[in-house]
This record gives sequence, C-alpha cells and structure tokens, in this order.
Amino acid sequence: MTIKCPNCETNIPPEDFNVSKDIAFCRTCDETFEYSSLVADSEFDNFDLSNPPNNIRWHTEESNPTLIYQKVSKVAYFLMLFLLMELGVTLFFIFSGFAEKNFGSSLIILIPFLLTSMILSIAICFLLLGKRKIISEDDTIKLFLGIGSLGRTQQFQIADVKRVALEYGNVKVNERPVKDILIELNSNQQDVRFGALMDEQCKEYFAAYIHAICNKTK
Ligand SMILES: [Zn+2]
Repeated sequence: MTIKCPNCETNIPPEDFNVSKDIAFCRTCDETFEYSSLVADSEFDNFDLSNPPNNIRWHTEESNPTLIYQKVSKVAYFLMLFLLMELGVTLFFIFSGFAEKNFGSSLIILIPFLLTSMILSIAICFLLLGKRKIISEDDTIKLFLGIGSLGRTQQFQIADVKRVALEYGNVKVNERPVKDILIELNSNQQDVRFGALMDEQCKEYFAAYIHAICNKTK
C-alpha cells in the first residue's frame, strides 16, 4: 500500500508511516499527517461514475455540470394524512363557529391549527420537491439544498479540499448513527458535512463525484 502526501504528492515510504499510531510523515514537506486520512481518500479512486444510481441525475445549469439528487420521502405521505386531519378539524371549528354565531372565540382556537398546517405544508413541499445539487464551476463546488432557487447554498474551493470521505456524524436513524459525506478543507476552514439522510448508494456516488472533480484538477 502506498500513500501520498496531500501537499506535494510525494509517495510516503512504509518506514515513514505507522498504522497503529495513525501517523505519516512527509520528508519533503517536513510535516506529519494522520495516516487514516491519507488512506481513506483511495476508497473512491476506482469508483465507476458512469452509472448514477436511482434518484440521481445529471443536468447542465448555466453551462455548469450539475448532479441532482431528488427523492420523494415516504414521510411526505404520512404528513399529508396529518395535514388532512388538521384541515378537517379546522373546517369543523369554522362551521361550528358559524352555527353558534360565536366566530371570534373559535378563531382563537384555530390559530395553532392554522400555524401547524402551514408548517406541515412547507415540510410536505420540501419532502416532495426538495433537491440536493452539486454544481461544479471552474474552481468552485457549490452544494445546494432546497426547492427551485429557494434554499441554502454552501460553497468551497476545489483547491482547498483535503479529502472526501463517508464518516459517522451526529445524525441517527432508528438509534443508529449514519454516515455523512465529509469534505475536509484546508486552511482552517470548517469541514463540510452533509447528506446523512440520503440513500446509501447516492451518498457514495456524491462523495465519489466530488473526490473525482477534486483529483482531476489537482
Ligand atoms: Zn509532502
């Protein structure tokens, strides 16, 4: 197994790394690294990007290659059922308010129902239409999460990416931790973590794709 220095790409010979102590030393740069962080990179080296899994598709956005992940969550249908129940209750109160000519007081009861209905509607829209995108520009990668153009964009310089990996984060599903896509960045920038709730295959594909872009331009 050969490992490379992330700074200068020089091969680090076996006598200069220690797996059990998790350190590797580059003589050229006179710098020490975590051995595991140098090896983990290779997990995507031979990844086949020609066949995107279900729920992932390619797109070109303003001439930038864009990878889109969109999956309708089953939770959306569950929430829709909930929303229907809420609307039922709301209508019941409105009509009973009319019947008793006591509309004012029933309006007050309705406010929390209307509020939760609104929140539910937004959540349902998001679960049905929400997308996750990776937009790659010349030297920048943008990560987008949202609906249409409404949402959150994170971006980082390709040159700053130290490594891409799948690692356990804080998110748990059924009490079990799930992996995030981790993008480790240079120069004291905070690491980017995302995608914990994506399909396992899609997570891998996203990570492998980012890894591929970053290595192509290095
Ligand atoms: Zn080096």
